[in-house]
Amino acid sequence: MYPDQLNIYADRGNIRFLEMRCAWRGIELEVIRVGPDQDLVESAIDMIYIGGGQDRDQAICAQDLAGGKAETLRNWFAAGKPLLAVCGGYQLLGSHYESAKGRIQGAGAAPLSTRTGAKRLIGPIAIQTDLGGPTGGVLAGFENHVGLTELETGAVPLGRVLAGHGNDGESGAEGVRNGAAIGTYLHGPLLPKNWWLADWLIAASIGIEAEDLPVLPEELERNAHQSAANAAGISG
Ligand code: GLN
Repeated sequence: MYPDQLNIYADRGNIRFLEMRCAWRGIELEVIRVGPDQDLVESAIDMIYIGGGQDRDQAICAQDLAGGKAETLRNWFAAGKPLLAVCGGYQLLGSHYESAKGRIQGAGAAPLSTRTGAKRLIGPIAIQTDLGGPTGGVLAGFENHVGLTELETGAVPLGRVLAGHGNDGESGAEGVRNGAAIGTYLHGPLLPKNWWLADWLIAASIGIEAEDLPVLPEELERNAHQSAANAAGISG
């Protein structure tokens, strides 16, 4: 969603990575770009992706969300269907983002809200998820946000901060998850640095377990993860 508005820090690399890992396995992947003028047709999609963006661009998307896409996102998140929303996209999943220039209404899909903090939270980040996988559930990336996100009671974070700031720099929580629906502050792009999460999303999208996907060589991917984890000061 919103590839022209929400695509900072090379977040579109996440799509490229999904495309390549599907192609290498002979899995057909059609990427449908849904901008403010296009419809989000729920029956035509298996996964939703929303990247990060600046406050100004988030406001443009927020206006469009209110036109009907917010409802689709609410149903999608509630059902725990495959969704990856990064940073600005993550913030838009919540009820609102109190930005420096005023309130940006969110989709109200995930039980969270965001307010502007006193300082920008920036730098390498590593988190511990309970998703298992070859890194023991550790995800590594890069964060850069001024928004502080607060999860509502009962919301489940994607993981616990091992190094870096996460949702608000204080709670130790990072991101949000319901089933296969994920919101996170991790750029990187996230998926090339955490290859198994890409496979986890692909598997969820086609309704199989990740270990049932054809195996691919992963030396480069392991190294990419290792270097992101090292940048965050953990051994990976
Ligand atoms: N504009 C938002 C913030 O600064 C999101 C930034 C981003 O997507 N990197 O908090």
